[in-house]
Amino acid sequence: VIDIEGLNKTFGKNQVLKNINLKIQTGEMVGLIGASGSGKSTLIRSIAGLETMDHTSKHIKIFSEPTQLGHRRTSSYRSLRKDVGIIFQQFNLVGRLSLLTNVLIGRLAHNPSWKGIFKLFPKAERIKALQALERVNMVDYAHQRSSTLSGGQQQRGAIARALTQEAKLILADEPIASLDPASSDRVMNLLCDINNQDGTTVVVSLHQFEVATTRCDRIIALRDGEIVYDGKACGISNADLIELYGVEEGICN
Ligand code: ATP
Ligand code: MG
Repeated sequence: VIDIEGLNKTFGKNQVLKNINLKIQTGEMVGLIGASGSGKSTLIRSIAGLETMDHTSKHIKIFSEPTQLGHRRTSSYRSLRKDVGIIFQQFNLVGRLSLLTNVLIGRLAHNPSWKGIFKLFPKAERIKALQALERVNMVDYAHQRSSTLSGGQQQRGAIARALTQEAKLILADEPIASLDPASSDRVMNLLCDINNQDGTTVVVSLHQFEVATTRCDRIIALRDGEIVYDGKACGISNADLIELYGVEEGICN
């Protein structure tokens, strides 16, 4: 699903990603961890085609297609829009639109001819969107303006949008960073469920490594823009964590 070779990313003089090599297979649930500033968001944005890579990089391929920023007519761009669902920490939904309309936006890439007819979404599509909202337990809020929803509710809405989009890959950048523990659990349950039931590949960056190690099969740890650990969640040692975060916290051993 994801194939990255020799990815470098520099902002000014600051090299933020250093020779990243990474392959992620269909159906994996991958947790991306690392201290603040280690490059998690930049890596996720690069995968999503939202950042250009340095010319010294080899490639980023999504579904075997090189991502080429800005080339809207390429099949890789279309497949990025259609197959990749993106969930950020915040500002996921268009605040002045209803939740249902936001979820229907997930269908746009499947229906390129729609352009600006938000009120006229076909009935079959509305049903799909409502089913997705049902799955995330948000159907009662379908007609509410998104800006009036709580953070956790908005995140569930963003997940519903990825569901109606029928995304094959979900990229989530700290989706639970600003949520309370109960909402965090709900959002993580949904992501795990989508991964288990639908086989959707999920890459999720998380500040809390306990969440990552309990919820994900594979952990990728970044430190100063380099991958310092890539493997099973239980393979992370205390020493690794001390190096990553400068704190001693036991998890698996
Ligand atoms: P956090 O856990 O705080 O979200 P992160 O691991 O997501 O951190 P990034 O946001 O990827 O880290 O940032 C990595 C580094 O890149 C930081 O030093 C940051 O200042 C820098 N950086 C990120 N985006 C930009 C940008 N658009 N312009 C300049 N520097 C940037
Ligand atoms: Mg970040």
